[in-house]
Amino acid sequence: MKTNSTNQKHESFLTDSFGRIGKKLRISITDRCNLQCVYCMPKNNNNWIDSKDILTFDEMIRFASVMSKLGIENIRLTGGEPLLRSNIEILVENLSKITGIKKISMTTNGILLSDKISQLKKSGLSSINISLDTFNHEKFKKINGTDKLDQVLESIKVASKIQMSIKINNVVMRGWNDDEVVDFARFSKSTGHPVRFIEFMPLDGSGIWNENLVVIKHEIMSKIRREIGKLIPLDIDHSSPARSYTFSDGKGIIGFIPSISEPFCQNCDRVRITSDGHFLTCLFEKPGFDIKALLREWKSDKEMANFIQNCISKKPEGIIQIIRDKQLKPSLNQMNMIGG
Ligand code: SAM
Ligand code: SF4
Repeated sequence: MKTNSTNQKHESFLTDSFGRIGKKLRISITDRCNLQCVYCMPKNNNNWIDSKDILTFDEMIRFASVMSKLGIENIRLTGGEPLLRSNIEILVENLSKITGIKKISMTTNGILLSDKISQLKKSGLSSINISLDTFNHEKFKKINGTDKLDQVLESIKVASKIQMSIKINNVVMRGWNDDEVVDFARFSKSTGHPVRFIEFMPLDGSGIWNENLVVIKHEIMSKIRREIGKLIPLDIDHSSPARSYTFSDGKGIIGFIPSISEPFCQNCDRVRITSDGHFLTCLFEKPGFDIKALLREWKSDKEMANFIQNCISKKPEGIIQIIRDKQLKPSLNQMNMIGG
């Protein structure tokens, strides 16, 4: 164990070779989905992970508890579509009981959320990111595979009624939905829900990614400034990849995840596990390290911790290096397996 000072004792268990400290864990609880977004899922995908290879909730809880002892504080559940897994509230409840875990959140497409949100909140879920790329029914079908706009909007309403903290995730693609960024900014002003514009990353199972489809932060900001007004930066949260702004009247929060134009790699504090138990220290790591084998061989916490620390020591620099090496190309990884 490396110790820098008493209060950094735990943090330093997950320090990588660039000095970055892992604090946040994303658990992809399924690779399956009820949508087929063009920027994520392979077309006509039916190549799902076999159910026997999917981690059980008990395995996820055990892994999370080892990670919490190594310094992980926040857990985000994602997928595929996390709400496709039944009894997810039991997972949330058990994760929230782990000593050292301060926050459980979820990223969902929102389709199945309205019926489940109350129970999830009671079980300990503290915030939710809902993906929504368009307010147009036809475009929803084109971008996300099936038109479920009404269900998603209903879920946003229900979640805000019970005062759940909500953020809206919007992947902006040129020619697909970039004409709606101002509408989304207005939506944030009128509802108060932060909207985060995400630059399209080459994590598309479909293989459609190309640089021309990426609409960068600067371009989106200019459009919003022209149509609505000046964007005022909010305090920088160094642990978040999002850069956030509001307007002069203080209404609305507009965030950007500029993974391509301003990569966040230097401050990355995330690690991930796929639903079949592959540990990823970076979104662009492939295929990751097999934790499932350790879990199923009943390795001790200490053996697992040693394995994890060894993986962390190999954490690559990230997309920043891929960009520097001019190696961006479609399908560098598959987002529905990793969960964002
Ligand atoms: N199914 C859930 C959902 O869509 O919110 C959770 C999983 S999804 C993979 C997690 C997040 O990744 C979503 O907000 C989605 O919009 C985003 N995402 C998927 N593919 C992406 C890509 N190629 N580039 C940037 N963001 C992407
Ligand atoms: Fe499914 Fe989410 Fe990927 Fe869309 S982004 S296909 S909703 S996993």
